[in-house]
Amino acid sequence: MPIYEYQCTACEHEFETMQKMSDAPLEACPSCGENTLKKLISATGFRLKGGGWYETDFKGDKKEEKPAPACGTGACPACVSN
Ligand SMILES: [Zn+2]
Repeated sequence: MPIYEYQCTACEHEFETMQKMSDAPLEACPSCGENTLKKLISATGFRLKGGGWYETDFKGDKKEEKPAPACGTGACPACVSN
């Protein structure tokens, strides 16, 4: 979730809040209660927490064990037994 910074133009109280993109911007200052908040453009923007991306779909260590295919030449034990 993006973090938005707000500053109150009445009392100059500044704070950060996490909001969804779809949330309406805040208006009421939590400090003085006036509807005088203005949203600051923040360089922090998206803040990544933790490692972020994990490789959960790791399939490299699972080998399929198939019997060796018959060679088809008739010269090996696998072919002879058929
Ligand atoms: Zn205020």
